[in-house]
Amino acid sequence: MGDKRTGIVGAVLALAMALVPRVAVAEGLPTPTATNVPEKPVGAQTFVWGRFPTKAVIDVFTQVRLPSGQWATSQKRRTDSSGGYSIPLTYGSSVPGITTWRVVGMMPDGSYQLTREFTLKRVPSVSASAAPKKVVNVGGYTWGTIATDRPVPVWTEVFTPRGWTRSQIGTTTADGGYALPLTYGANQVGWTRWRVAGRYPNGSIVRSSEFRVLRVPYSSALKAHDVKVVGRSVQGRPIYAFQIGDPTASKSVLFLGSMHGEEPLGTRTIDAMMRDKRLVAGVDLWVIPTMNPDGLAVGRRTNAHGVDLNSNFPLGWSYRSTRNQYWAGTSAASEPETQAMMRFLTWLKPDQFVSIHQPLFAVDSFKVKDQQLMENLSRELSIPIKYLSCKSGTCGGTMTLWHNETLPGAAITIEYRYTETDQYVNVTARDGLLKAVGARWN
Ligand SMILES: [Zn+2]
Repeated sequence: MGDKRTGIVGAVLALAMALVPRVAVAEGLPTPTATNVPEKPVGAQTFVWGRFPTKAVIDVFTQVRLPSGQWATSQKRRTDSSGGYSIPLTYGSSVPGITTWRVVGMMPDGSYQLTREFTLKRVPSVSASAAPKKVVNVGGYTWGTIATDRPVPVWTEVFTPRGWTRSQIGTTTADGGYALPLTYGANQVGWTRWRVAGRYPNGSIVRSSEFRVLRVPYSSALKAHDVKVVGRSVQGRPIYAFQIGDPTASKSVLFLGSMHGEEPLGTRTIDAMMRDKRLVAGVDLWVIPTMNPDGLAVGRRTNAHGVDLNSNFPLGWSYRSTRNQYWAGTSAASEPETQAMMRFLTWLKPDQFVSIHQPLFAVDSFKVKDQQLMENLSRELSIPIKYLSCKSGTCGGTMTLWHNETLPGAAITIEYRYTETDQYVNVTARDGLLKAVGARWN
């Protein structure tokens, strides 16, 4: 079993083939005993032990049955003065499979006695551990042990669009230990599926169970259950969504930190929420730190095309010739940031969606869809309810209007002041948002 492809016999057998010419089967003689552990990992030391019915010290040896059916002698020992013996079972220890054994004793009268036949199953195994989450471009290893008593080849396999693919190749230490870098996909946000494989000297391959590694963009996002790149900005910056609540909760909520790049405080609140070591309970919470990373990078309201994203959504959109900071773009949903949000919102269908702005100091009651949410936000964030329609003469193409007309959930706009204290942004607003939607710190 398991030895068919390699000629390891010569290396393992300590003694030459031994014929057993005469076997004592004398009536009434007590038979010798042989006990062993029937199953052992590949490479692990194990013994057969028992007793021959003699007070003399005699030679005893193990024999193993070869694939040919012949018996080959393996290890030789001597009994103690009461016939007791213990002999290691070495043949075939480095490969998976089942071997059949017996023990032969050379009795004082020159006859041989045989124990019953017994088997030993060598079980292959490989363990694989890895951190379930790593920041993009920051190292990452898998480590573990293969059951072996000598170095064997080991490699990682990653699931790619072409199926399971070998990635990094190495060799275990003599006792089977290994550590391999998880390189594939390390520079990208998202999940990768992995397993570890090793090859025994007889060619048989053992594989670990599968594990997944989530690559997240920031160390503060390590607590996220999932992260999606929902799209990219005009300049190619990723727009991230993090799932940081309870994924099993029935109610889904989304917080958007900022849409306008000169209104950065909401993004700071979301960042404080993500950096907090505690988990969020009660709702399936997703957060998008910003949907306008290009604008946020330079403190500009619009995206890199000069479009006010809150005028670009395809509900009530109209062309505006004046290219000011409220410009609606060349057509409805022309901007990649708008398209990314529409895709993500349509996929998530949040029950509640809070979009954070500045500086009007208001919870917007214009066409409010969820009265209770509006009142909760006002109370928990200490922001008054105000009717914000058509500020600056622009009411078409807003995100919340498009959302509330198109999707089942309720979206609402809130506005911080122009300036807020760190305490308000990082603590009061952080905890108030959670409380307003029925979430809590765990
Ligand atoms: Zn705004």
